[in-house]
Amino acid sequence: MNNPLKDAQLRIENVFNTINLDKKYLPLLLEPNRFIHVKVPLVKDNGEIVVYDGYRSQHNNNLGPYKGGIRYSLNVTSDEVKALSLWMSLKCAIINVPFGGGKGGICVDVKTLSENEIERLTRSYTRLIAPNIGDNVDIPAPDVNTNGKIMNYIVDEYAKYKGKIHLGVVTGKPIENGGSLGRVEATGYGVYLNTTFAAKDLNITDKTVAVEGCGNVGIYAALYLYQNGYKVVAVSNTSGCLFKKDGINIANLSIFLKTNRNLNDYQEENIKHLNKNDIYEVDANIFLPCALENSINETNASKIKAKLIVEGANGPINVEGEKLLLQKNVTIIPDVLANAGGVLVSYFEWHQNINEITWNFDFIQKKQLEMTEIAYNNIKDFKLLHNLTFREACYAYAVNKIIKGGKY
Ligand code: GLU
Repeated sequence: MNNPLKDAQLRIENVFNTINLDKKYLPLLLEPNRFIHVKVPLVKDNGEIVVYDGYRSQHNNNLGPYKGGIRYSLNVTSDEVKALSLWMSLKCAIINVPFGGGKGGICVDVKTLSENEIERLTRSYTRLIAPNIGDNVDIPAPDVNTNGKIMNYIVDEYAKYKGKIHLGVVTGKPIENGGSLGRVEATGYGVYLNTTFAAKDLNITDKTVAVEGCGNVGIYAALYLYQNGYKVVAVSNTSGCLFKKDGINIANLSIFLKTNRNLNDYQEENIKHLNKNDIYEVDANIFLPCALENSINETNASKIKAKLIVEGANGPINVEGEKLLLQKNVTIIPDVLANAGGVLVSYFEWHQNINEITWNFDFIQKKQLEMTEIAYNNIKDFKLLHNLTFREACYAYAVNKIIKGGKY
């Protein structure tokens, strides 16, 4: 079993060697500033009481309040949450928002819970972490298996704790409760933008794409690519994989997915239904891993035919898998740059909340485009200057900025 924290720490250590950073700062970044482990009690609908392990990792706040999602999944461990919070610190530094890195999670299988149980679990977790979050302290957001509805429960429970509503305590809220236009689309839109910048730099003219994972990130990235002349030839999720040589109609598929997650039920002329692992072998010049951590590893990396990989998910390629891809000269746009659109529009949401203003959708997407292009070019220039991979450049650029932003 891969440990994402070990991978993240190794990559941080390597960066100190590649660009000759002062090693005295290394211990500041390997572990979070504060790590909270809570035992979250839930009274089930049948009256039984179950206690779940919950975490909040506050990695580094040199550049601003901690920021990052909360996930509900059986894969949640203390090390996973720590790694994800470290990546958030890098992501915020790269995309130029005044936040540090945080992440939280509860180790739970949400499929076994009713909606009322999810609400009670969220309120219970919020009560336990309430003294350590706040709109200027640590600002959670949705992540794997959490959403706007869950953010509403946090706002409400936090208001009970503070005696007053603070909309800026979380982002990713529904629009009617202080959410921002463009936030739902933001991560996928950012993945799409990074794909277009990199495809242009690499001169990829046959714009065929395979997308692993069709949750919120994967499907929006695929949709924007489809609408802008890319041919999305394959899409997968845990149920299977769709393949169509001439390109899948992603507009239709995205409507289908709103009510049915089983790709085997999706029909379109000339579409083939494959196994979910076949996604790694399809003929496509661009591959977007938008599922979970470590999906690309030493077992499948050498099968991938793409010239360009853009990481929609957090940590989808492990260190071993990356080595194999780099040997084949594959360009990888890493998560901390590629999927930073989520936290970027979270920052816009927080800014609107704090200043009691509302921005429109076009303004938000225009701002997202501008800031994403600046971040991509900053990293590209840094990469060329120091002769690094995109991932090394991201780590080095961000670590440098975080170290300089601190008081010691
Ligand atoms: N969960 C998202 C991420 O991993 C968004 C975090 C946020 O909006 O704070 O980037």
